[in-house]
Amino acid sequence: MNTPLKIDFNRPAPVGREMDYVAEAIRGGHHSGDGPFTKKAAALLEAELGVPKALLTTSCTHALEMMALLLDLQPGDEVILPSFTFVSTVNAFVLRGARPVFADIRPDTLNLDEAQVEALITPRTRAIVPVHYAGVGCEMDSLLETANRRGVRLLEDNAHGLFGKYKGKYLGTFGALAAQSFHETKNFSCGEGGALLINDPALVERAEILREKGTNRSRFFRGQVDKYTWVDIGSSYLPSDILAAYLYGQLEQREKIQAHRKRLWEFYFAALQDWAQAHEVQLPHVPAHVEQAYHMFYLLLPSLDARQRLIAHLRGRGIMSVFHYLPLHLSEMGRRFGGREGDCPVTERVSDQLLRLPFHNVLTQEEQERVAEAILEFNF
Ligand SMILES: *Cc1c(COP(=O)(O)O)cnc(C)c1O
Repeated sequence: MNTPLKIDFNRPAPVGREMDYVAEAIRGGHHSGDGPFTKKAAALLEAELGVPKALLTTSCTHALEMMALLLDLQPGDEVILPSFTFVSTVNAFVLRGARPVFADIRPDTLNLDEAQVEALITPRTRAIVPVHYAGVGCEMDSLLETANRRGVRLLEDNAHGLFGKYKGKYLGTFGALAAQSFHETKNFSCGEGGALLINDPALVERAEILREKGTNRSRFFRGQVDKYTWVDIGSSYLPSDILAAYLYGQLEQREKIQAHRKRLWEFYFAALQDWAQAHEVQLPHVPAHVEQAYHMFYLLLPSLDARQRLIAHLRGRGIMSVFHYLPLHLSEMGRRFGGREGDCPVTERVSDQLLRLPFHNVLTQEEQERVAEAILEFNF
């Protein structure tokens, strides 16, 4: 008997004209940042989302670091964010000397619990950073109301949520700033990449300077100044135009990619609904007023033990599944900021129970059928 082919958790792959565009970028001779493909990709994001400015960056981590720089954070300033997120959401602010204040998540969507934010605000709070987990929008009405009333910035980590909507409005267009990821594990990829979306026009000019090593080079290229010079702090956050070419090829296929991911998500949901109910497994919840971005499909198993055994069971059948995130407030770094067991009980529980199924742009229905069959055979 042949061993069945392995089913990857993630498999980055071109789906449109990515290879042609990369070749074109290489032949065209503009290999550094802000070349023709960078401009096309940024213009596509601006037009599609209706944001005043999109700046491509080398990663979502760097877009988050730019956010923290734009806020002019001072040591001791506080930023409220979920403990249930990727380290970069927090590191970007900690790098500028800020103190992370961890909030718990809602048990239904696993998004920042908007009801807990108000009590965490102090005179030192500078920003609230919701993460649209799995591409399902956070409760933006409530978060915006709290942020505006208390004079605190709202910044979105939208790494999962590109083209998802909350009450008909695109995720990434609510906060003063939003960060996107084009890492190979996200819906749209160029290997490593990201974007900073700027919704507050007052922040555009300084963002361009920070991204261009602290120079006013962007204004020079637009003919607004006759020479460019060092005007502020900054770093190098521009991706190569060769990467932007790959990304543009992906973004051009956004309808095809999102339609495919929607089919994948709906297949898993339909195939596992009865099984989940019978075994007290929680499937993802998408509120009616949210249009999700179909970033992932996860299960919440009844226990850590069941989760670990299901991962091993699937691996035995060549199927790769993964878990994430370890609660940041209980990490070595998080504890240095005072994190203690019991601070964020939902995060602590979900982190033990969550399992992510294979989900990517070239996953086939046959592969999904094998995944679903294997799950239905699992002995609890
Ligand atoms: C992937 C991810 C990031 C980091 O993205 P990079 O582009 O790899 O820097 C940040 N936040 C969240 C929630 C992510 O999932």
